[in-house]
Amino acid sequence: MSAFLALLFRNRLAAMGLAVIAVILLLAMATPLLPLHDPDVIATADRFMRPLSEGRLLGTDHLGRDLLSRLLHGTRLSLAVGIAAALIAAVIGSAIGIVAGYFGGRTDNVVMRGVDMLMAFPYILLALAIVAALGPGLMNALIAVAAVNVPFFARNIRGITVGLAGREFIDAARLAGMGHTRIILTELLPNVLPVIVIAMSTTVGWMILETAGLSFLGLGSQPPQADLGSMLGEARSAMISHPHTSIVPGLMIFLIVMSINLLGDGVRDALDPRLRSGALSRPRATTLVRRQGATPPATDDLLAVQDLRTEFQVGKRNYRAVGGVSLAVKPGESLGVIGESGSGKSVTALSVMGLVASPPGAITGGAVRFQGEDLIGAPYEALRQKRGDRVAYVFQDPLATLHPLYRVGQQLTETIRSHRNLSKSEARMRAIQLLNDVRIPNAERRVDDYPHEMSGGMRQRVGIAMALANEPDVIIADEPTTALDVTVQAQILCLLDDLRRERGLAIIFITHDFGVVAQLCDRIAVMYAGRIVEEGPTQAVLGAPAHPYTRRLIACVPELGGGRRELAAIPGLPPVLDDLPPGCAFAPRCTKAEESCRQGEIPLQGPALHAVRCLFPERAP
Ligand code: ADP
Ligand code: MG
Repeated sequence: MSAFLALLFRNRLAAMGLAVIAVILLLAMATPLLPLHDPDVIATADRFMRPLSEGRLLGTDHLGRDLLSRLLHGTRLSLAVGIAAALIAAVIGSAIGIVAGYFGGRTDNVVMRGVDMLMAFPYILLALAIVAALGPGLMNALIAVAAVNVPFFARNIRGITVGLAGREFIDAARLAGMGHTRIILTELLPNVLPVIVIAMSTTVGWMILETAGLSFLGLGSQPPQADLGSMLGEARSAMISHPHTSIVPGLMIFLIVMSINLLGDGVRDALDPRLRSGALSRPRATTLVRRQGATPPATDDLLAVQDLRTEFQVGKRNYRAVGGVSLAVKPGESLGVIGESGSGKSVTALSVMGLVASPPGAITGGAVRFQGEDLIGAPYEALRQKRGDRVAYVFQDPLATLHPLYRVGQQLTETIRSHRNLSKSEARMRAIQLLNDVRIPNAERRVDDYPHEMSGGMRQRVGIAMALANEPDVIIADEPTTALDVTVQAQILCLLDDLRRERGLAIIFITHDFGVVAQLCDRIAVMYAGRIVEEGPTQAVLGAPAHPYTRRLIACVPELGGGRRELAAIPGLPPVLDDLPPGCAFAPRCTKAEESCRQGEIPLQGPALHAVRCLFPERAP
C-alpha cells in the first residue's frame, strides 16, 4: 500500500488531482458544519449580487440565494450521486461480467446479448428514456446514470475474466474441489479487482458529468434543491448579464472532473505491475549507464566485456547482479559461460547491447568493446545499428521471443529489412535460404508457418536463423537448448558449431550444462554470484577444475553408465545479491574456506590461460 502511494505521489499531476479532490471532498463533507446561509432561502431584494460583496463571498443568484452555500451543498449532492452511480454500476456490471466470463457458453451468450442491447442505444438517449419512464428526480437520475454505465463494466470485466478462466490456476482450484462461488470470490475477484478499481477511477468523473447533464436538463435534482447541474441550468438565462452565476458551478464541475481524471490516470499507472518496480516510466530503449571509475583501455578482441558491473535498484535495495565481469572472444572462437541459475549470466549477456531493463537495471562500471569501440553509453542509434546486425542473440524460449501472430517468414524478413535495404521478395528468398541453413526441412513451405505450428526444436532453429539473418560477427546464445530434448539439442549444437567454422562466427554460449560446453566451446568461464571464479580452456577446466565451486558443480552432473552414485549437491544456498559477503562469495558454502577467504577482494589469478579466483585452488596432480 505504501509503495502504491509512493508511486502515485511520484506522478505530479496525479498528486495534484488527489490534493484538489481531497480538498473538495473535505469541503463537501464539512458543508453542514460550516456557517453558511441557507441555500434555499429566497431574497429577491438581493438578486445577482456580485462575488466578494458584503457577507456574500460568491454573490447571489437570480433569486438572491447565497451562491457559496448553494455551491457547497450542490457539490456535496453531485459528488454523492456521481460516486454512488459509479459504485452501483461497478458492482452490478462487474458481477455480470465475471459470471458471463466464468461460465461462458450459453450463460455468456444470453447475458452479453442483453448487455449489448443496452449498449446499442446512444448513451444519453438511454438515460433520458430511463428518467422519462421513472419521472424526474435525483434518485431516478442516479439509477439512469448507473444503468447506462453497467454495460461498460460488464464488457470490460468479462473480457478479463474470459482470459483468466482458462488459466491453470482456475483448473487447479476446480481440481481442489472448490465450488463456483468460492472460485469466483477467491480466485477470480482478486485478479480482476485492480481492473475494476481502475475502470471506476477513470469513469467516476464521467458519471458526475452525466448526472449534472440530466440535472441541467431539469431531469435530475428538482428546485429548490441545488446540485451543480441544476445550478448551471438555472444560471443559463443570465449567462451574459451575470456570468458569475454560471462560472461558479461550471468551475467546480471542471475542477472535480479534471482532478478525478488526473487521479484516475495516476491510479491506473501505479497499479500496473509492470511499472511497479520502477519509476513511472516505460523501460528505456537502452540500459541506463551510471559509470564510475576509469574505462578500461581497448584490446584487439572482437568483443570484449571488461570489468562490467550491472546492478538492479529495487526500492532501497541494490542487487549487484554482475560485479566486475571480464570476457573476450576472437573471431571463430566460442566461449562457454556456465553457472547456477541466478549467477548473472543473462544479465551479463544483455548488458552487452544495453538490453537490460532500466529501470530497475543500470550499468555502473566497466566497458563492452566491439572491435575496440565502447558500447556502454553509446548513443541509442549506434546500438540499434549493431543489435541483431553485428551482435545477435538467441534466447532460451523461442515461443516467448517469436511473435505469435506473425508467420516466421514475416519475422525473419523484418529482421533482415531493418538492417538491409532489400525488397520484400528478396528478403523472403533470404528467409527461405536461412531456414535451409538451419536445416529446417521443406523451408519453402515452412516459411509461412506460425510459431505455434512448429515444434520446439524448429522454433529454436528459427531463433537461430533470425540471429544469423544479418551475418553477425558475434552470437550470444543464452541457454538456447535448455528447453529442448537431447536429440534436438545435439542437432542445434552441431549447427552452431558448423556455422562457427564456416563463417568465423564468435559465439558466447551461456548454459548450466557441462556436457554442452564440452562439446561446443574452446574456453569456459565459470560464474558465481555475478563474478567469474574460473576461466580457462575447456579441457583444462573440465579435466582439472581449480575452483572448489567448479569442482562441486562438475560433481553435480550425473554420469551416464557410471552406475548409481550419490550426487554431491552443493550445500547451502546461492548468496543474496544485495548483501554479498566481503571476500569470496562462495566461502560460506566451501569446505576449504579459511578466515583469509572472508577478508577482502580475491583476484582472478594463475597462469594466463587458466585463471582462478581462489586462495586455495584445487589443482589436480
Ligand atoms: P542467470 O545466471 O540464471 O541467467 P540472471 O543473469 O538472469 O541469472 O540474474 C542474475 C540476478 O539478477 C538474479 O539474482 C536476478 O534475480 C537478478 N535480476 C535479473 N533481472 C532482474 C530485474 N529485472 N530486476 C531485478 N533483479 C533482476
Ligand atoms: Mg539466464
